[in-house]
Amino acid sequence: MNLGIYIQVPFCQTKCTYCNFHTGVVSAGKYAPYAQAVQQEITNHRDFYRAAGVGSSPVETAVVDTVYFGGGTPSLLDPVHLQNILNEVRTSFSREWKEVTLEADPETVTTEKAAAWAAAGINRVSFGVQSFSDLELKSSGRMHRRYDLYRAAPILRAAGVNNLSFDLIIGLPHQTAQSWRNSLDELIALSPEHVSIYMLEVDEGSRLGRELISLGTRYSAPAVPSDEQMADSYDLARELLGSGGYEHYEISNWAKPGFASRHNLKYWRREPYLGFGAGAHSFNGITRWANAHDSMEYVAAIQAGKLPAEQIEGVSARQAHEEEVFLGLRQLAGIDLSQMDSSYARTLTDKLASLEIAGLIEREGDIVRLAPKKLSISNEVFVELLS
Ligand code: SF4
Repeated sequence: MNLGIYIQVPFCQTKCTYCNFHTGVVSAGKYAPYAQAVQQEITNHRDFYRAAGVGSSPVETAVVDTVYFGGGTPSLLDPVHLQNILNEVRTSFSREWKEVTLEADPETVTTEKAAAWAAAGINRVSFGVQSFSDLELKSSGRMHRRYDLYRAAPILRAAGVNNLSFDLIIGLPHQTAQSWRNSLDELIALSPEHVSIYMLEVDEGSRLGRELISLGTRYSAPAVPSDEQMADSYDLARELLGSGGYEHYEISNWAKPGFASRHNLKYWRREPYLGFGAGAHSFNGITRWANAHDSMEYVAAIQAGKLPAEQIEGVSARQAHEEEVFLGLRQLAGIDLSQMDSSYARTLTDKLASLEIAGLIEREGDIVRLAPKKLSISNEVFVELLS
């Protein structure tokens, strides 16, 4: 059995206006104690899990083949901290590493850092690009500018990191049909191996989201494109990335052949992963849990010899089936009803009929997929199937 390791680094230089993640801006002096706590959590994870009642036995003999530093902005950490954490993973788990990813903000990349990352074993870097328009970047509170993308990508390639992923966001303030097309064109010209495209999320968790709900103006909410424009932007991304040689393999993800994210596929395939750090989630195949979000609370708990685990939840058979459907349909390959529990597949079949008539899904024998032209409204399908 293969296992993924996720390391959460919940620190950023500033807070982007659209961001609804549990990340914070703290003084750089807090990075080292945090990295040490993560190392300690990895070293003692078996004892911590036993005491917290989550158990690691289902993954005890698993082989770690992917590691993912996410955040936050993990590239802010001193490369020595990243290396120490990776060394701790090397010591504590059987491993056969295929993919070691670092999320990075483009402006944080330097020649020295890139060389140190490669030497530590990082072989994939995922950039929060978000846009190639300086107006959109600035109005979203991003620290980097278009120029940084053209500077950072060659530095990484020269250091030997030849698996790059670029994220873009549909729906940033001031985004137009033309600026979106331009971002896609520039991205394709830079030729990253992997691309993720996310829709702006409107909720109370971000300053821009709250402003869109309350109809304010401070964070440029009136300049956010309409839902129709966002749906058109998604369709344009499918078209241009498809003709640019990218395979669309998950609702938000495209890859050149052979470069689908091995780590993220584990989430969609319900394979086990262990998360370390504040707010990191874990799934050992039987139980899901998460660490406390507050990084100071997390460090204090680990230093006191206690895992701050919360939301500990045994996954019932029904939940497992629902996750299989929800996560399976996110993948363009779809779900195979013949591989599912037969009574659950029968219940599902009744609901699928109306979705097929509505043109929201496609069916080929036992294989069910979201209809390619309706991917931007996939939530409607999920709500109906899981109701
Ligand atoms: S850099 Fe990423 S995690 Fe940090 S505030 Fe911006 S969007 Fe959020």
